[in-house]
Amino acid sequence: MIVTRFAPSPNGSLHLGHAYSAITAHDCARMGDGRFLLRIEDIDGSRSRSELADEFRADLQWLGLSWEDVPPQSTRLARYSEAAERLKATGLLYPCNCTRADIMATDPEMGPLGPIYPGHCRHNPPDPTRQKVAWRMDVAAAMEAVGPLTWIDERFGEQRMSADLMGDVVLVRKDCDTPSSYHLSATLDDAADGVTLVTRGMDLFMATHIHRLLQALLGLPSPHWYHHDLLVDDDGRKLAKRRGSPSLVDRRLAGQDGLILAADLRAGTFPAGLVLSHSLE
Ligand code: GLU
Ligand code: ZN
Repeated sequence: MIVTRFAPSPNGSLHLGHAYSAITAHDCARMGDGRFLLRIEDIDGSRSRSELADEFRADLQWLGLSWEDVPPQSTRLARYSEAAERLKATGLLYPCNCTRADIMATDPEMGPLGPIYPGHCRHNPPDPTRQKVAWRMDVAAAMEAVGPLTWIDERFGEQRMSADLMGDVVLVRKDCDTPSSYHLSATLDDAADGVTLVTRGMDLFMATHIHRLLQALLGLPSPHWYHHDLLVDDDGRKLAKRRGSPSLVDRRLAGQDGLILAADLRAGTFPAGLVLSHSLE
């Protein structure tokens, strides 16, 4: 059975791009008589606003979607810590105390997920017993440890795992309230939730290489992926309310018909100025 999910972060209201993403995941599940899950990714402590989860549910209902709730990430912190300890025990993680400013000062190469960590602490690790540190994965060493891997995107076919393009990503953040990074928590949750088809935007295509690597290191099953095009401004920028694209809640409260909107999105009829983009950013 197909199990898909929509996994929004409650940092701001949902917009049309989220609606497109949720509908895509929902319809992939329904076409296969499968299950569609809603997982609230609320571990970005400083920015998460828990009241948004109810707004999201009202938005999805307004779009005519039905779903099953799975536990939000904030209730799963112990599992993330346990997995992080297991990874540390492999010797493939190293502590890092670099700030973003430290990293930017080295004029780092930009990768598909942001600046590529220049590797300072891989050679000069700080003492984690004396200060707060993040833990990064030595991605080259991890790839060496697991050997060649592939993963399946249902649109683009088999991909060779090449996680090194992103540099050494953070898996455990310095901030203790929210111990694990998106990469680690989402990978663990997709396995725990029994997701068989991870449906999300092209902006996370490159992140999937990291997730595939983590699955191999942690002995997790590997689902398939479906990376859909992103709904963006016609100048290629992601939609966000601050750029003037009304959020779903705004549209809903203004009396717009959510079922008609959902039908339009399915048909590829988008409001003026919005287009689908294939880009990986
Ligand atoms: N929480 C992530 C976001 O809102 C989505 C993660 C995912 O679909 O894997 O961007
Ligand atoms: Zn560092």
